[in-house]
Amino acid sequence: MEFVTLNNGVSMPKVGYGVYQVSPEECVRSVQDALHAGYRLIDTAQSYDNEYEVGTGLRQSGVRREEIFLTTKIWIANAGYEKTIQSIDDSLRRLQTDYVDLMLIHQPFGDYYGTYRAMEEAYKAGKLRAIGVSNFFADRLIDLCHNVEVMPAVNQVETHVFQQQTELHGIMKKYDIVHEAWGPFAEGRNGFFSNDVLNRIGAAHHKTAAQTALRFLLQKDVVVIPKSVRPERMAQNLDVFDFSLTPEEMKQLEKLDTGKSLFFFHYDPKMVEWFYQMVQERNLRV
Ligand code: NAP
Repeated sequence: MEFVTLNNGVSMPKVGYGVYQVSPEECVRSVQDALHAGYRLIDTAQSYDNEYEVGTGLRQSGVRREEIFLTTKIWIANAGYEKTIQSIDDSLRRLQTDYVDLMLIHQPFGDYYGTYRAMEEAYKAGKLRAIGVSNFFADRLIDLCHNVEVMPAVNQVETHVFQQQTELHGIMKKYDIVHEAWGPFAEGRNGFFSNDVLNRIGAAHHKTAAQTALRFLLQKDVVVIPKSVRPERMAQNLDVFDFSLTPEEMKQLEKLDTGKSLFFFHYDPKMVEWFYQMVQERNLRV
């Protein structure tokens, strides 16, 4: 495994395992399989409704807590100082641990400055080893950076060959914030795994389209957290450190960028309403 050093000196694996849409029934087994395959970064969120199962999987795996880098995220419904203070303790209880390695604001909605202040406090108290954000576009990220005491260490945003986030990446570099990709396979959208360019370049290295896509992001200094519930794919997605893409291959993959989201765009009013509807409809377990 290779590691990146965050702006506060904490070390973070460059490849992790994401558990979005992993059901509570599958999650304990999946987390253990991932740890046994060699993953040491696990990415969950309050809204995935599987923090308890992640904690159980971690505990039952036999891997020492200090070896694991655990990320979770504050959901929109918990935005604001008071609610966040409480929800950090709730996450720790569900995750069955007394600290989280990285806590992110999941979405830039609601009183997220209050959320951030509460995270800064928990960071100073040692409950969070690093803090950061997710889905912050350039304008909100820059504004946040100018109004906080503890700089965000990470911004986790949709990033894959079809949405490479080149401009935002440059801004994150400038502010010393690590770029972490969610949906590194775009969840298979847009014919991802059968894409000609990914498959052709992968074949030249005896690698799959999935491995080529991850390798591309790693060579762009982007941390990746692919999700799979299948052990053979978990292993495959981790096996990306024994080859390099040439500058010419990188150029060909850069051309796949459409500069557009395959999921959601925060400046679309309908999308903002959709998020608030989801907040109301989601009945998360406590
Ligand atoms: P993803 O990792 O881009 O894609 C997952 C899909 O690809 C699943 O359908 C999986 O199927 C399939 N897959 C995985 N490895 C494969 C392989 N080697 N070959 C072929 N198919 C493969 O999607 P994601 O889960 O949305 O994103 C990854 C993680 O990012 C999430 O789990 C979550 O932790 C995080 N995330 C964060 C946000 C946010 O707002 N911050 C949003 C979305 C996701 P199987 O499981 O059947 O193998």
